[in-house]
Amino acid sequence: SRRPAANSIIQPDFKFEDMGIGGLDTEFTTIFRRAFASRIFPPILIEKLGIQHVKGILLYGPPGTGKTLMARQIGKFLNAREPKVINGPEILNKYVGQSEQNIRDLFADAEKEYKEKGDESGLHIIIFDEIDAICKQRGSGAGGGTGVGDSVVNQLLSKLDGVDQLNNVLVIGMTNRKDLIDEALIRPGRLEVHVEISLPDETGRVQILKIHTQRMRENGVMDSDVDLDELARLTKNYSGAELGGLVKAASSFAFNRHVKVGTMAGIRDDVINMKVNRDDFYHALE
Ligand code: ATP
Repeated sequence: SRRPAANSIIQPDFKFEDMGIGGLDTEFTTIFRRAFASRIFPPILIEKLGIQHVKGILLYGPPGTGKTLMARQIGKFLNAREPKVINGPEILNKYVGQSEQNIRDLFADAEKEYKEKGDESGLHIIIFDEIDAICKQRGSGAGGGTGVGDSVVNQLLSKLDGVDQLNNVLVIGMTNRKDLIDEALIRPGRLEVHVEISLPDETGRVQILKIHTQRMRENGVMDSDVDLDELARLTKNYSGAELGGLVKAASSFAFNRHVKVGTMAGIRDDVINMKVNRDDFYHALE
């Protein structure tokens, strides 16, 4: 078997807090331990152990919880090449063979670099959003009735199995519906590490609200009467994306308190000095 690549020199001054991901530190640790620990071992040790790096992970859970954010940050953390991000349904094409070609194209850069540099190649990350769209149980008619689903899954499987020889690819699949995914795709050796990304709890919501209000707090544009702990208590079942939306909505309420339609010209001093306050957040919650 091949010597695993030392192709992901982890950022030495990395801190989870700097990633801009709220409330998912446990999940990140799980991913790290199960999927990346091997990448910081000395290659000689990997060789002695006779193991292969994990080449695929699956992040699953409700929409807007930070799966894409996490996948991108993993790439930065591993010092990988700029990830390719594809939406499952985008891959599907009604022309015969085109969807399979689309899959092959995704792996082309990694293959090229591996041919040139071998184990010195950088790490290539391929992120599949809505991977369930192409990887439903085979024979279930995935692909919106186009019938291309099965051969697309097969193409992806053969690429993943081919990655045995590649060593410089990590595939990150994401889905809201893990139950729909073809078992063959999430078996050991393929997308083998599965991590659930759930809705944030209260502590997570405080962290997410802090991230999304960081700029306004640093710039003194958030009123001191805003209590993020209180907001976190009031936003049970909000996703990270919805919390981001809440902050945006509150800002626009603040802005609209100052700007009357028809007076857009000559923005007044009180607009420049405006602050987003507790009432704005309350409005946004309604
Ligand atoms: P989908 O399943 O709909 O693709 P997703 O889980 O991939 O959703 P993201 O695209 O990562 O969700 O999240 C959308 C946006 O919501 C992010 O760009 C970010 O602004 C915000 N967000 C979501 N989760 C978090 C989080 N845990 N911390 C900070 N921001 C978050």
